[in-house]
Amino acid sequence: MQYNPASRVAEEFINDEEIQATLRYADEHKSDRELIEKLIEQAAAFKGLSHREAAVLLACDQADLNEKIFATAKKVKEHIYGNRIVLFAPLYLSNYCVNTCTYCPYHAKNKHIVRKKLTQEQIEREVIALQDMGHKRLLLEAGEHPRYNPIEYILECIHTIYSIKHKNGAIRRVNINIAATTVENYRKLHEAGIGTYQLFQETYNKKEYELLHPKGPKSDYAYHTEAMDRAQEGGIDDVGLGVLFGLSLYRYDFVGLLMHAEHLEAVWSVGPHTISVPRICPADDVDPSTFSNAVPDDLFLKIVALIRLAVPYTGMIISTRESARVRGKCLEMGVSQISGGSRTSVGGYVIEEEKEENSAQFETSDRRTLDEVVKWLLDGGYLPSWCTACYRAGRTGDRFMSLAKTGEIATYCQANALMTLKEYCEDYARPATREAARHVIEAELPKIPHEKIRKASVIRLQKIEEGERDFRF
Ligand code: SF4
Ligand code: SF4
Repeated sequence: MQYNPASRVAEEFINDEEIQATLRYADEHKSDRELIEKLIEQAAAFKGLSHREAAVLLACDQADLNEKIFATAKKVKEHIYGNRIVLFAPLYLSNYCVNTCTYCPYHAKNKHIVRKKLTQEQIEREVIALQDMGHKRLLLEAGEHPRYNPIEYILECIHTIYSIKHKNGAIRRVNINIAATTVENYRKLHEAGIGTYQLFQETYNKKEYELLHPKGPKSDYAYHTEAMDRAQEGGIDDVGLGVLFGLSLYRYDFVGLLMHAEHLEAVWSVGPHTISVPRICPADDVDPSTFSNAVPDDLFLKIVALIRLAVPYTGMIISTRESARVRGKCLEMGVSQISGGSRTSVGGYVIEEEKEENSAQFETSDRRTLDEVVKWLLDGGYLPSWCTACYRAGRTGDRFMSLAKTGEIATYCQANALMTLKEYCEDYARPATREAARHVIEAELPKIPHEKIRKASVIRLQKIEEGERDFRF
């Protein structure tokens, strides 16, 4: 197989020989100070890094240059994303699954876990609970099961979620993380109004992938790896990549992930909208030997910093799998979206609490409520945001990326973050959070770069206080 980033064949755009050659090249240059300095400068100018360049920085064994990599990632993060952090929550719809992924407790052979699928009435209760916390963005998750979770079920759930209006609450953007599917089904998801379609590769190493997915539709490496191209064909132009760090060798997966981003850019002229960085963690009925490649915290942070440098305009997401401490560090290095107050079980926001049944996919390390996370962000100098404006204004795919690359998007992001934080304060925040937010809003308002939008924001903030909602730029 020949390496070709513009090919539609999985093993050509994620090419094993190219990855092996990249890793050899990185090893040969891991102490090449001149090259490493040059690459850091290139990244500091927001020019990104190729998979080969980023691999050299990952291999870099010079302590002072590694410090420089972290410092540069912080600068790039601040320049492009400011101090804004977008908040979302996962919603698990069903844990029925026909796959046998060895690292996931939902695998078909697990007989201990309670299997559940939410009815539309249960979804309504879960969504009301999420709205009452203040969430506006959801990420739907479901196992793969043609009988229990067909596409019609997912579409019905999306429709239900968008239709629920409780007090001032509303879910304004539904992102989806479901199994690889057909162009036709992606088109249906697009027509149902989803935001981003996420699908994690888990590992890009084909041999490892096949060992980790012995049976079920997900065992087809090519079908899984080519899914984002089918999603694009179906009209979904915001797609989210990710690998489960620690499953296979992190260097291989890091290079594969960036090659996948380059492939999307080469074929669809727009790279991934987001990259998620889940790290494997213990779970029910999962063999601990699966974790033999576990990635320690300092290395994980370096991976986050280098993704920030390699694809500066791609949002980065971290879940509550990680502790508050690691999440805090990741926010500095490049993460722009985090979940808050998450439950990783089916019915976890209302139903499960009542019955005390465990159907969780993984343990959450960060167990704070959304309001605690918001207060923590505010105290740390961040600006929490529930903004959903781009997707609702049709600023997706390359339309979004061109605004992001010229920096124009920052005006919208800043104003919308302030609008949504004000709404949160009026409707959901505890008094201490409200007070902290008041100071942050005052300090952040003058930072809206565009005068007209700044003035309009002042008026809209007042209107929110008077009871109006859902302003967006
Ligand atoms: Fe099923 Fe997804 Fe878990 Fe695999 S990772 S067993 S596909 S829910
Ligand atoms: Fe995201 Fe667009 Fe809102 Fe900025 S304006 S936070 S890019 S949705």
